[in-house]
Order: sequence, then C-alpha cells, then structure tokens
Amino acid sequence: MGPQTSPSYVTLWKSQSQLPSPHHSSALDLILSVHSKTKVGVMMTSWESILQDDQQLEELAQQAVDKALMEGVLMRTKQEPNSSNIVSYAPFTLFPSAVPRELLEQAYAVQTDFNLLVDTVSQNSAFLEQTLCSTIKIDDFIAQLFDIYKQVLKEGIAQTVFLGLNRSDYMFNRSADGPPVLKQIEINTISASFGGLSSKTPAVHRHILNVLGKTKEAANILSNNPSKGLALGIAKAWELYGSPKALVLVIAQEEERNVFDQHYIEHDLLARNIHVIRRRFEDVAKTGSLDQDRKLFLDGQEIAVAYFRDGYMPSQYSPQNWEARLLLERSCAVKCPDIATQLVGTKKVQQELSRPGVLETLIPDQPEAVARLRATFAGLYSLDVGEEGDRAIMEAIAAPGRFVLKPQREGGGNNLYGEEMAQTLKQLKASEKRASYILMEKIEPEPFGNCLLQAGIPARMTQCISELGIFGVYVRQGKTLLMNKHVGHLLRTKSTKHADGGVAAGVAVLDNPYAV
Ligand code: ADP
Ligand code: MG
Repeated sequence: MGPQTSPSYVTLWKSQSQLPSPHHSSALDLILSVHSKTKVGVMMTSWESILQDDQQLEELAQQAVDKALMEGVLMRTKQEPNSSNIVSYAPFTLFPSAVPRELLEQAYAVQTDFNLLVDTVSQNSAFLEQTLCSTIKIDDFIAQLFDIYKQVLKEGIAQTVFLGLNRSDYMFNRSADGPPVLKQIEINTISASFGGLSSKTPAVHRHILNVLGKTKEAANILSNNPSKGLALGIAKAWELYGSPKALVLVIAQEEERNVFDQHYIEHDLLARNIHVIRRRFEDVAKTGSLDQDRKLFLDGQEIAVAYFRDGYMPSQYSPQNWEARLLLERSCAVKCPDIATQLVGTKKVQQELSRPGVLETLIPDQPEAVARLRATFAGLYSLDVGEEGDRAIMEAIAAPGRFVLKPQREGGGNNLYGEEMAQTLKQLKASEKRASYILMEKIEPEPFGNCLLQAGIPARMTQCISELGIFGVYVRQGKTLLMNKHVGHLLRTKSTKHADGGVAAGVAVLDNPYAV
C-alpha cells in the first residue's frame, strides 16, 4: 500500500487540519505544550514508507528492542514466569501511533469525572444491589464478591480511607461524516496495569525517531509517568491511615510475568520511605489476622494499604483465597480497591450507568460532568429477561458485526464477536443465563499501519487499531475527597486480526500516542 492510499496517519492529519483550534486550555496543556503542530503530516507519510521496507524494519526493530531492554520495558518470559533470571522485553510498537489531540485531551478531561463517579457509586449500596441482582443469580463469581460486600456492610465498614487507582479505556470510533469520536470500552477499577512500563516507552520511541533523524518529532513524544502518580495515591492513603510503621501490601499472583510494571510503583514508594511487601492471598490466609480494632496484621506487621494485583478472575480464588479476601475486606486497612469499588468496575454496572437519567440521579447538580461522561458512552444494552433484552438480542443476531457480547469478566479473551456471538445469543435467548452478559455496540476505529514487536515474530507492517487508557487516582477520607487526578496514559495497539485481548494475552502491545 503506497502512502497515497493509506487511510491512516494522513487521514488523521487531514481531519485535524480542518479543526479550527485543537488547543483548548486544559490540564493537558502543560504536557502538550511541547508539541509543534507542524510537519506531522509529512512525518506520518514518511513512516508509512519505512513500513514498506522489511529490511529497514528489521534493523530498526533490533535497535528498538535493545533500547527497550536498556530502558526497563521488561517482562518475565512465558517459560519462566516466576523468575527474573531470564527476562525479555514487553511487546511494543516500533513507532508511536497518531492519536487526535482533541480526543486525548477529552479523555484526560473526563478522567476526574470518572473517578468521582466510581467513588460515588461505590458508596451507593442500593444502586449496586439493584444493578447486580439479576447477575448474581447466575454468575457465581460476582455472587461471591457480592456476598463478601454484604457481609462487610452488615458488620459495618471499618475502612475510613479509600483509594482508587483506575484506568478508563477508550477507542476512537470512526464516523461516516466527521472526525473520529472517543468511546469508552470499559473502566478498570482493580489491578489496572502498565502504569509502570508505559512510563518507560516514550524514551524508546524517541530513540527510534532520533535514529531516523527525526529529532523534532522525537521531542514531541509526550512524557508519561503513571506509576509515579499511582504511587502518590498509595502514599497519600498510607499517610492518612496514620501509622508510620505500617506497610503497603501488594497482593501478588504466584506466576507474574508483569512484575516489573509493579516494581516501578513499589520502588517509588520505597523512595518515600514507605515499605512494601508482596504476598499472595495464600500468605494472607495463613499469617493474616485482625486485632480488636480490625487492624490488619501479617506476620505481626501492620498493613496500612492492600493493593490488589490479583483477585479479579474466578481462577485466582481457591476457598482459602476467598477467606483471605474476606479478612482483608473486614479490616480497616485501605483496600485498593475495596470490594464495592471492584463491583463498580463490572460490565453490568457500566451498562446500567448508561441508562438515560441514571448519571443525573447519581451525581446531581453536576450537569457538565454528566455531559462529559455521557459523551464517551457507546451503546450498551441489558440482556435481562424481558422485552428490552429480547429486542437487543434480536438486533445483535440480525447484525452480529455491530455488537460485542460481554460476560462479567476481566483480563481479556472473554468477549464474543460476530457469528460466535450470534450463535451464543440464539442459545442464551430462552435462558436466564443471558442476564450474566451485557451487549455493547462494537467500536470501529480506522486502521493504520505500524509494526508490532513481539519476541520471535518478524518485524512487519501490520494493520492496527489502538486503545487509549487514562489512569485516574482518588483518595477519600470519610466523606471528603482529598485527591482526584489523572496521572498519565497508556496506549495499546493490536492487529485488526484480533477482536479481543490485551498485552497480557499476547495480542496488544505497548505504544505511545503521537498527538496530531
Ligand atoms: P476486559 O475486562 O477483558 O479487558 P474489555 O471490555 O476491555 O474487557 O474487552 C477486551 C478487549 O476487547 C478490549 O481491549 C478491546 O480490544 C475489545 N473490545 C471490547 N469492547 C469492545 C467494543 N465495544 N468494540 C470493539 N472492541 C471492543
Ligand atoms: Mg479491558
């Protein structure tokens, strides 16, 4: 495909140049002010031509991989997920990908609204109960989480400081007659990852552009440091907890390839003289205890903050792990997230929030925030038994390409698309099981060329689409929100061949937005 026929960077550049003024005054101005608005179109076309040259791609790929290793864009290998003796690079794109500056700004601007919304819903037990009541009848995993939630409510919540570290994910939906629009895919309220590694990838893309003599463009790549902001949130919660000797506990998985991503946050905390221990649910079950004030102790050491990088999938819970989760939730330690906030992250809650009037009820007196939030919502449909669900099912069976079927799961690889989705819907139609799913409009970004660098796979130009995530942090003490900020971004890019899947699933790779 020649540069003239490419629908990618060039198209974005053209549509951008038609906008009156892309530069609004916003919190992002500071980050984006280093951006020149010139020559982007030219540069994008020249990347396109490099992408045609397999030999040059291979050579650049080697330099990029070395730089990634030098910068610490690291992951443990599939073969040795428990050891750092042999590590590899986390997969990434050879080039940064063009992202419309306006959409990047919009995503940043709405993040504090999403923080507020998540925090507000997490305190609304009536809404959570009503929203999830049909789901928990069928979905055992959500039912177990909900059961812990109810137990804690009944006993009385001991936790007084609340910490949210989330990531709201978006794609850029192409529209027939205008520029692409920002549409939310989901919000992750537990174990939102890649805040560490995405702090390290800008240097890699800058290096590659420097190698190509594109120093100005290299300097235009946005700096990004989500892990610093995430650590700041944890530090604030730790401080408010108010026990200088207490530790931060990272609930870690037994096999964790993405351990370096987590270490960036941990090391930042240590630099603030806040000590971190990594333990598994099993360890908590064996050595954890509560005192009469429901303070949490592990091996006799008090825990101020428990940060989950585990516990979001059914397979991560043995009966013993469920006991550990309950113990943690009953304690007054700051859980990130607490069980209510994890439930707010379910796809069912996302779908109910999109119903007309719901946002207005949940956050009254904030019509501007409501408008900003709603503008990012894609079509979301309940599949609860009844007329509304029947209609959604009929529509999706008639046009399978336009929808995604989602169960209440995290971690990628669970959604159904196309014919497989249609078949499943036909079977589900007469069953109560359908209430454990939601239906979502399929977002269709404009594909563009980039090169995905994954160990053992030759560097070749691939048609890709991207997903942008914005990291949000908030801290609440009692009823007072003391921190509410956005702390950086993550761009993940994948081949158009894959409908689903994240970096951990080996489908998407790390990327950087090149604002145009
Ligand atoms: P998970 O919790 O498993 O990450 P997501 O809702 O993020 O679930 O879906 C996983 C992946 O599927 C996303 O990263 C995205 O690539 C794709 N996807 C999800 N929803 C949509 C959608 N509405 N349109 C297009 N692709 C989607
Ligand atoms: Mg996701």
